Amino acid sequence: MLGTGGRRGVVSWDGIELLAGSGYGRLMDVLVIGAGVSGLTTGICLAEAGLSVTIRTAAPPEQTTSVAAGAVWGLVRVGPPARVLEWGRAGLEALAKLAAEPGTGVRMASGREISRTPIEPHDWMDLLADLRPCEPSELPGGFTDGWHYTAPLATMPVYLGYLRDRFERAGGTLEITSVGSLAALAGQAPVVVNCSGAGAHDLVPDPTVVPVRGQVVIAANPGIEEFVIDRDPEPPWITYMFPHGDTILLGGTNDEGNWDQEPKRHIAERIVAGCAQIDARLRGAEILGHRVGLRPGRPEVRLESEPLDGGVLWHNYGHGGAGISLSWGCAAEIAAVICG
Ligand SMILES: Cc1cc2nc3c(=O)[nH]c(=O)nc-3n(C[C@H](O)[C@H](O)[C@H](O)COP(=O)(O)OP(=O)(O)OC[C@H]3O[C@@H](n4cnc5c(N)ncnc54)[C@H](O)[C@@H]3O)c2cc1C
Repeated sequence: MLGTGGRRGVVSWDGIELLAGSGYGRLMDVLVIGAGVSGLTTGICLAEAGLSVTIRTAAPPEQTTSVAAGAVWGLVRVGPPARVLEWGRAGLEALAKLAAEPGTGVRMASGREISRTPIEPHDWMDLLADLRPCEPSELPGGFTDGWHYTAPLATMPVYLGYLRDRFERAGGTLEITSVGSLAALAGQAPVVVNCSGAGAHDLVPDPTVVPVRGQVVIAANPGIEEFVIDRDPEPPWITYMFPHGDTILLGGTNDEGNWDQEPKRHIAERIVAGCAQIDARLRGAEILGHRVGLRPGRPEVRLESEPLDGGVLWHNYGHGGAGISLSWGCAAEIAAVICG
């Protein structure tokens, strides 16, 4: 447990008091690696608890995987189920609160998961208050089943900007610098938190981390108000649309093992065509941009600590297709242990 004990500059960890200037230079209490949604949220929880936090990141928030997300609350492509459900529950609550605040980029949005064959709701959908089967009139042509619900939806460029501002308002510092090795960080801060997403594959190194490439298209919104997720396509394809006011995010791909971060024209064309089949208003939609993100795929989220040369190294990565949804739950768990 690490805490300032009410006095800045005095940190205790597992009973050891580390006074300002004692071995760590006391430049910071915590060094967080990564400025995607996991790193920023972890940084906020620790900085708002009174710790001095620096985030060190190879890329600024607006160039991370996180910015490519749709991004609706949902617990897909991630494990282990029991812990994910608890982190997800915390995330749902936190994001719903942010949806009630102006300027966060989060809102409560209604939408549908649909299929051409009978589908059951996911287990985690039990957490949603208004889940119900779709009315036939709510199903596009060719679709025969679906579920309608309301969940938090984040416009990621705005949400990441909000998170960065909130972190800096809490006294946090963000440095754009790549970290070559975790071992080299020993002695720089009593606590290091590794939120490097797919970068953990090389940084840890952790060969169980695999990129799950997601390409999306940003188009002018022709008036679509509800999000739609089509459950039918086989990987690497998935078809979905998430309206964000004047723009709409169209997806997408789930391409496991692919590290390529360049958008591909033929993929974008197929994405738009797939979405236009569901909603004809998207035919000929004005294309405004393309994004690619590498989901940090891993059999299970890695949320655990290990010793690092007299300090402690926390890992918080491997959130697969649910990092936005899990970020507050994971960050709160780490902050609770570190701060008591
Ligand atoms: C197309 C798409 C749609 C998605 N939709 C959803 C959704 O609807 N809902 C949902 O919950 N999730 C969704 N996800 C998943 C979600 O985006 C990810 O799980 C989440 O963004 C992971 O966040 P992260 O902060 O862990 O990693 P990242 O956002 O990848 O951030 C990693 C950070 O670590 C830094 N870093 C890496 N290596 C180093 C290093 N060596 N030195 C310094 N810094 C380093 C990077 O620069 C970056 O700042 C989607 C993902 C994609 C791609």
